[in-house]
Amino acid sequence: MRDETKCLHSGYTPKNGEPRVMPIVQSTTYVYDSTEAVAEVFDDPSKSLIYSRFENPTVMAVEEKIADLEGGVGAMCTSSGQAASLLSILNICSAGDSFVSTSTIYGGTVNLFAVTLKKLGIECIFVDADADEETIQKAFKPNTRCVFGETLANPALAVLDIEKIAKIAHKNNVPLIIDNTFATPVLCKPFEFGADIVIHSTSKYMDGHALQVGGVIVDSGKFDWTNGKFPEFTEPDDSYHGLVYTEKYGKMAYIMKARMQLMRDFGAYPSAHSAFLLNLGLETLPVRMERYCENALTVAKYLQKSDKVESVSYAALPGDKYHELAQKYLPKGTCGVISVTIKGGRDAAVRFMDSLKLASNEVHVADIRTCVLHPASATHRQLTEEQLVAAGVHPGLIRLSVGLENVEDIIEDLEQALANV
Ligand code: PLP
Repeated sequence: MRDETKCLHSGYTPKNGEPRVMPIVQSTTYVYDSTEAVAEVFDDPSKSLIYSRFENPTVMAVEEKIADLEGGVGAMCTSSGQAASLLSILNICSAGDSFVSTSTIYGGTVNLFAVTLKKLGIECIFVDADADEETIQKAFKPNTRCVFGETLANPALAVLDIEKIAKIAHKNNVPLIIDNTFATPVLCKPFEFGADIVIHSTSKYMDGHALQVGGVIVDSGKFDWTNGKFPEFTEPDDSYHGLVYTEKYGKMAYIMKARMQLMRDFGAYPSAHSAFLLNLGLETLPVRMERYCENALTVAKYLQKSDKVESVSYAALPGDKYHELAQKYLPKGTCGVISVTIKGGRDAAVRFMDSLKLASNEVHVADIRTCVLHPASATHRQLTEEQLVAAGVHPGLIRLSVGLENVEDIIEDLEQALANV
């Protein structure tokens, strides 16, 4: 099946007389005939359901759909994108370990990696993704356990050279985790370029309608956890009566460990109702992504011509710093998000944003409605000036998330707001 078909049919196939639409299984528990049957489920949780803190049929149908879209062997939904980032790392790193991350990533992830994980004894070493291989290699230490990056960085909109970073990670025998939130699997499939794990904030384009916060971790099944660097995968898990993940689950070792160990203990699983809503968003994802890209390119071209605008970052624009990489990794388009810097710095940016009538000021992105955000005052507020620069966030930068309104209405709104600057 192609993406459009997968979005409608993967994960749930009704049998004779069953509901056409994927049902919401609103139950915390599942019933078994005997004590022995329950014991068998505990021996191999992949066979049946135990408890909705870490598995539920409605959520699992969506997990299957997303795994299918990304080309992975399995997926696990989480209650937020942040939980997906956190668990994707904790499934590999423990206190005393380090990992490498590109610096142009979502501000909330920078906070998680640089502040909260540090408190847990896990060190994150940030690197400039555009640096050459030799420079990036210097960040690796004997305790480095993985590499993390974003396909399309929020909000700098830098395109990651996934193949280059994957090559460096694999040379060091560690996996590459990619946050593919902005691109979605419709625009880019990181596994095709060597990534091993993909995570998403499903709160963005996947849900698409700003209905609920969520996340997902997808396993490519390709990384060799038996290479000697990852004993938690190859040695008995005391918390799971001595189970060895690589022996029991083979290619699905990473995602099964994430579910059975981390989700069991942290319980950051979405509700069946949330998964049902996410599924509605996923059903139209390819159609929406096409229109987002079309509208955003038109808007980016318009903004580029305005004498009130200092710069526009949108990798689909010819001449953009990341245009060449975008043609390789995102040939169908670079989503609906544009970074624009208005002449006059922070004050001009605020005046422009406050003058908008159709586009709303929101702490959100990738909605069907056009919205704007000033990252330096909001999502990246906790970062120092130095971190702001590293994350590609100029104080006058505005993140414009172009929606699915008629593009002429969007441009008219931008025009009247620019006239006020
Ligand atoms: N990753 C990216 C690229 C994001 O933009 C965000 C949120 O904006 C997150 C992760 C965190 O996701 P959530 O807000 O669903 O926790």
